[in-house]
Amino acid sequence: MDLVLEAFDTFLFDPLYATFLPAKTPGLAPNGTYSSFKEVPTAAPYTAQNTWTYEPASQYLSFEPGKYAYMSQWPRDDWRRQLVTLFLITWIFGLLIYYVFATLSYVFIFDKATFSHPKYLKNQISLEMRQTNTALPIMAVFTAPLFLLEVRGYSKIYDNFDEAPGMWYNYMQFPFFLMFTDFCIYWVHRGLHHPLIYKHLHKPHHKWIMPTPYASHAFHPLDGYAQGLPYHIYPFLFPLQKFAYVFLFIFINIWTVIIHDGEYVAENPIINGAACHTMHHLYFNFNYGQFTTLWDRLGGSYKKPADELFQKELKMCQATWKKQNEDIDKMISEVEGSDDRNYMPDEPKKIR
Ligand SMILES: [Zn+2]
Ligand SMILES: [Zn+2]
Repeated sequence: MDLVLEAFDTFLFDPLYATFLPAKTPGLAPNGTYSSFKEVPTAAPYTAQNTWTYEPASQYLSFEPGKYAYMSQWPRDDWRRQLVTLFLITWIFGLLIYYVFATLSYVFIFDKATFSHPKYLKNQISLEMRQTNTALPIMAVFTAPLFLLEVRGYSKIYDNFDEAPGMWYNYMQFPFFLMFTDFCIYWVHRGLHHPLIYKHLHKPHHKWIMPTPYASHAFHPLDGYAQGLPYHIYPFLFPLQKFAYVFLFIFINIWTVIIHDGEYVAENPIINGAACHTMHHLYFNFNYGQFTTLWDRLGGSYKKPADELFQKELKMCQATWKKQNEDIDKMISEVEGSDDRNYMPDEPKKIR
């Protein structure tokens, strides 16, 4: 994250902090304004307050700081500034990834026939967006301290490929990361379905029985945070190359969108794709995994996606929906007791 922080500082936050929290430097114009920014030739006048010196976060990619990097009373290495900036990056970057990839998936992949499914909710997409918009800043509040610890050197993040436990690790960290987090998320997610916890934390994500890509991040904030924790814990337990971390961070967010887009490209017995996760939203207590079906198989919670989900004509046909509808009503009464969802008005459905 220090690499991301360096990039954001250089292009966005240095000027912002210099403007809103300027260094108190003698010799400024009497009116106290900083209209003379442009005339400041070097960082020198500020060094008394701003003792920060530039060290690139990575030897492979660096962003040379401009003059603004030295013009705030909060230097770049001030932990308060880092915490605030990391919070803003996590929030804004999270929103950006969510809207960009959910929209791409919605436009190009998502089957709009879903709108006619009997379990599709009234105004569902705006409800999904609203839930996400509420959750992301709160999740960012809890996530920023973990990023701060990582940026301040308490994790096993490394830069140079030679720092890996072996050259092999530079490649193997990707499957390791996915396996570790898949295992952890399985148990966190299964725990969230415990009857004592489900109603308080996980129910908001199961409001969406036929999710759209915008349901991908629509969680109760603590639910989303709990399921995201394994990603943040990994670099404190195991080495992780910093570019790999950024790549994986973006990948897991895209993956979360993909498993909610309802498009079942292929029936794969190992990968926990959209078909498996659709089964989870339809039948609740199965397929808790994130990337693979391994832990569901070992934990006895695997439910093979129904055959009709892989045939477009059958997937979106009235007979399939009628059967799903009956099964879902049964599951809802078992898991939730009553159903407080507001479905689309029962008008003639336009289906294939
Ligand atoms: Zn769930
Ligand atoms: Zn889901």
